[in-house]
Amino acid sequence: MTAPTLIWFRRDLRLSDNAALTAACEGEGPVIPVHIRDSLVDGLGAAPKFRLELGIEALAESLEDKGSRLILRSGDALEALRALIRETGATRLCWSRAYDPDSIARDTRIKAALEEDGVEVVSQPGHLLFEPWTVQTKEGGFYKVFTPYWRAVRGRDVGPALSAPDRIPAPETWPDSDRLADWHLSAAMDRGADIVRAHALPSEQAAQARLGNFVARRIQDYAELRDFPAADATSDLSENLSLGEISPRQCWHAGQRAMEEGKAGAETFLKELAWREFAYHLLYHAPSLPSENWREGWNDFPWKDDERLAEIRAWKEARTGVPIVDAAMRELYVTGRMHNRSRMIVASYLTKHLLVHWRVGLKWFEDTLIDWDPANNALGWQWVAGSGPDASPYFRIFNPATQREKFDPDKTYLNRWLPMGERPSQTALAFYEAVPRHWKRSAEEDYPQAPVVDLKEGRARALAAYEDSTS
Ligand SMILES: Cc1cc2nc3c(=O)[nH]c(=O)nc-3n(C[C@H](O)[C@H](O)[C@H](O)COP(=O)(O)OP(=O)(O)OC[C@H]3O[C@@H](n4cnc5c(N)ncnc54)[C@H](O)[C@@H]3O)c2cc1C
Repeated sequence: MTAPTLIWFRRDLRLSDNAALTAACEGEGPVIPVHIRDSLVDGLGAAPKFRLELGIEALAESLEDKGSRLILRSGDALEALRALIRETGATRLCWSRAYDPDSIARDTRIKAALEEDGVEVVSQPGHLLFEPWTVQTKEGGFYKVFTPYWRAVRGRDVGPALSAPDRIPAPETWPDSDRLADWHLSAAMDRGADIVRAHALPSEQAAQARLGNFVARRIQDYAELRDFPAADATSDLSENLSLGEISPRQCWHAGQRAMEEGKAGAETFLKELAWREFAYHLLYHAPSLPSENWREGWNDFPWKDDERLAEIRAWKEARTGVPIVDAAMRELYVTGRMHNRSRMIVASYLTKHLLVHWRVGLKWFEDTLIDWDPANNALGWQWVAGSGPDASPYFRIFNPATQREKFDPDKTYLNRWLPMGERPSQTALAFYEAVPRHWKRSAEEDYPQAPVVDLKEGRARALAAYEDSTS
């Protein structure tokens, strides 16, 4: 019998449009799907790790429907792969490429070592539309500003999406597998897991349904309504894109078709997908994006980062006394996601009114978002803080009160997330069930009378700090 091929699933938890899986099935022999709980998985924040568990569970079911299985192993990825290769006699390994610096370092090491062992390693694209090294400026560098990047990629050919393989040839005997439940991937979510679970939509099938629903019902008005956090006007696909339960190519083609059908918001949707590409383009070329100021001029800015500070705790615990900020931070805690407009508002409030380092916010999102994405999160934070590439200027300070009036004029969003009036909404009450008990929160508590930092004062202080550091 021909030797088996291993397919190592990472951020590509899908069977369709998965070039690595297609390549694995093109071999003559059986295919053994594997997922490895290595140090990168262990290093994930609480919510992304919890969401990964849901994704793995769903992938395992899809594989079983095809007569296959997902083998789970833990430990150093190279050692785990070597053990599987020894046990199964596999001679090929396929995976979808990853573009964050830690994954690149791991994959480079593994590829070299396994090739040395005589194993063929096949890495395929799939997490992005455009490989970062294929998009270049005229001078041969990478793009640092979105608009020219968008101009460079918008007309590019994006190949057709691949179908899921009809069958995934199974080996005669399966290697041993860990039990997913024994990994306890949702342990750090504590009691919040049950609350957030109700808002997550894991699986490839769910992601496809989401895309279909978005294109049928929401894309038309997407450009007009996407900034209103209570409007349910966006695709909500970020949690699925983050784990590769759907491919950007499948989303792109759906957006293109909608554009051809004359649906007004379709081009804006394509543009947002391109922002995701741009974020990865930057992360690939500048791997310190999540940790260092893009613009070195910001290195001496007097940002605070002591996690014990009352302002930082108030921001994280959604009791700053600024209603739109607290509503957004509660949406995050209950759903594991936050509307893009709200992300910009809370990030601006933290880095400007509260003068807190963007890294503090980035880390909190890394722990609490089920759609956490290393590139989008880093670009989002540096963009809002003003330290990033193509960033919003620091002196453009969102006024949260004005933002609320403009983007939540009838307070639907506030009512959804803050316990207002006699009969608070279920979603607002859920916050108190989701947060750690040691926060000692209850729906009966009084809402802060005054903001932790007065809006006018905070703005003036931020501008003064900016002027000082640039003079
Ligand atoms: C401070 C901050 C942190 C962020 N952290 C993350 C993160 O960890 N993970 C994440 O996926 N997005 C992040 N974003 C970007 C954006 O807020 C989310 O992608 C978006 O809210 C997801 O909702 P959606 O799927 O309904 O998006 P839609 O509006 O339907 O857009 C479709 C897809 O395009 C991509 N996209 C949309 N907006 C952006 C953007 N501004 N930048 C990059 N890609 C975008 C996403 O993949 C999204 O799923 C962050 C933004 C900010 C300001």
